[in-house]
Amino acid sequence: MRLFDDLIELLLPQRCAGCGREPVLLCDTCARPLRAAARPARPAPSGLPPPWTVAAYEGALRVILAAYKERGRTALAVPLGEAMATAIRAALAAVPDPPAGASSGGAVIVWVPSGRRAVRRRGHDPLRGVVAAAVRRLRADGVAVSAVDALRQRGRVADQAGLTAVQRAANLRGAVEARAGVAGLRVVLVDDVVTTGASLAEAVRALRTAGAEVTGTATVAATPRRRPR
Ligand SMILES: [Zn+2]
Repeated sequence: MRLFDDLIELLLPQRCAGCGREPVLLCDTCARPLRAAARPARPAPSGLPPPWTVAAYEGALRVILAAYKERGRTALAVPLGEAMATAIRAALAAVPDPPAGASSGGAVIVWVPSGRRAVRRRGHDPLRGVVAAAVRRLRADGVAVSAVDALRQRGRVADQAGLTAVQRAANLRGAVEARAGVAGLRVVLVDDVVTTGASLAEAVRALRTAGAEVTGTATVAATPRRRPR
């Protein structure tokens, strides 16, 4: 199925995944938000430092992410991965280097896991592709990073859409677990979009429980939120 989608994408002219106008994967206008500088997403999720992020999850970017995740435009992993690399670089720059003598294979990137049902429905794990593209970009720039498939969802988790921040946190509590062997790793945790931060917080909890140190979090985009007053 993946091969078929990839062939279709090669053989048929495609139009911009954001606006549908220009005969390119992503036109300059729609790609621009992904090329912005990294910034802290605010308000920060409770108990976490603000995630580093690049774009606002609105307008064309919502369409682009849906085209990538739901409609098989897998080549979008590259521009999305470039944005994630920008956010990861900011997260790495914000923390001190590990103590001298500590094992230094570079930073470890871990991503928030998708549910197994979502992966099956989509035919691929979209975030994994974005992470791979981000790692390739960072390594090409001389940044020592590796991606580790360290987390998995445990059991069934209801769709987060339409839930309040409190409901999201309750929905996710205990939903993620770390695989063996992550103790002692220094991790930058990544996701595609941060909304309330509940998914990141749950993944951080799982990593810390397993003995990993989460030095920062990074996402491609953040949902714009009004500050509660
Ligand atoms: Zn466009």
